[in-house]
Amino acid sequence: MNKFNFNLPTSITYGWGRVDEIGKATSRIGKKGLLVTVKSFPAMKPLFEKVKELCNEAGVEVIHFDGVIPNPTIDSINQASEIAIKNKIDVILGVGGGSSIDTAKGVAVGASHEGDIWDYRFGQKRIQANKVLPIIAVPTTAGTGAEVTSVAVIKNANTKEKNAIAAWSLAPKVAIIDPELTVTVPPNITATTGFDTFSHLFESHLNKYGSYLTNLLALDSLKLVIKYLPIAIEDPSNKEARDALSLASTAGGICINNIGTTLPHSIDMSIGGHHPKISHGEALAIIYPEINRWTWKSAISKYATVGRLFNTELKNQSDEVAAERACDEMDDFIKKIGLWISLEDKDISESDLKAIVDDSMNIPNYTFHPKLADLKDIDELVKKSYRK
Ligand code: NAD
Repeated sequence: MNKFNFNLPTSITYGWGRVDEIGKATSRIGKKGLLVTVKSFPAMKPLFEKVKELCNEAGVEVIHFDGVIPNPTIDSINQASEIAIKNKIDVILGVGGGSSIDTAKGVAVGASHEGDIWDYRFGQKRIQANKVLPIIAVPTTAGTGAEVTSVAVIKNANTKEKNAIAAWSLAPKVAIIDPELTVTVPPNITATTGFDTFSHLFESHLNKYGSYLTNLLALDSLKLVIKYLPIAIEDPSNKEARDALSLASTAGGICINNIGTTLPHSIDMSIGGHHPKISHGEALAIIYPEINRWTWKSAISKYATVGRLFNTELKNQSDEVAAERACDEMDDFIKKIGLWISLEDKDISESDLKAIVDDSMNIPNYTFHPKLADLKDIDELVKKSYRK
């Protein structure tokens, strides 16, 4: 058995309706909270109001920053950090999808450290654990698992670069995972966020540094996504499906928080940096088919295992046959959830591909992939994903 470390620094409160516990949970941590969300809209307004009310009832004053933008930029984080400093905030509440939770993490650093949040991206200035403000995360999508991770993906709109801030101290103190909050997520966002979860779990299984525990979580939760994602897209209020997807999303977050993602996420970050209108899940769905075909021979037994999760009849086939078929099964799954798209379909011009390739090694995750890619390989994978 390989040696491994496994950390879960976040305390998890899971279950339908449990957002009602946010007031008490917050009052155990601070007295003045910054609620970090997107601009209010009908599906989310009641939730934002409820959070404020419950916190107030529990004796916590709340200031609302509603300037989160999808694929959070450093400007929006810097702006929220100034509000936090000015109001002497002592706890940050990230309520929403991954973009809101990541913005909350950015503020936890930005409001407690000197300078610009961009200075603290991967490999730059050190984040000081004892200074970071505590975070409570309430996910309203089932996708990123950001409620249990210690990274935040941030974007520099000037350089079009997506990067991350990362430190164990960024992991939320408490994650309240209430699947009921995801019922209003429309089918297209259910699909893209659900595919994000799929990718976290699949890449955790593939990851060279995977462990007994990450594999256990990844394989069991992959079964949930394969079964329930199409159901939640078809029937958004299906409780069983929403429950399963929220669990799988958190499980995916726990896995990637311990071992990171692999090659698809390195390329995905670059696509998202240059083309923020392409969502995280869409970018992954665009590049998965080619990456699978390029990879499977380097991880035959892992691909075979996943092939058999999709199609139990593959149990009667050799690993080699099941592994190759896993690529077809994943293609069919991507088609079934409506994400069979190419870079061309998303209005990217061929002249944009070089910039995507050039920035695809900015984060080291590609080195965790079972087959090590160089720039030439990535160039081919991106070009092949241009048109389907
Ligand atoms: P998101 O937070 O950008 O939300 C997508 C859209 O869904 C937004 O318009 C939002 O308002 C809407 N929405 C959210 N909840 C809703 C609900 N309950 N009902 C109706 N609409 C709702 O999307 P996301 O996929 O959750 O997060 C993506 C971001 O997370 C990206 O920036 C990505 O890079 C990052 N990410 C972070 C981690 C991490 O560990 N920190 C991991 C993966 C991805």
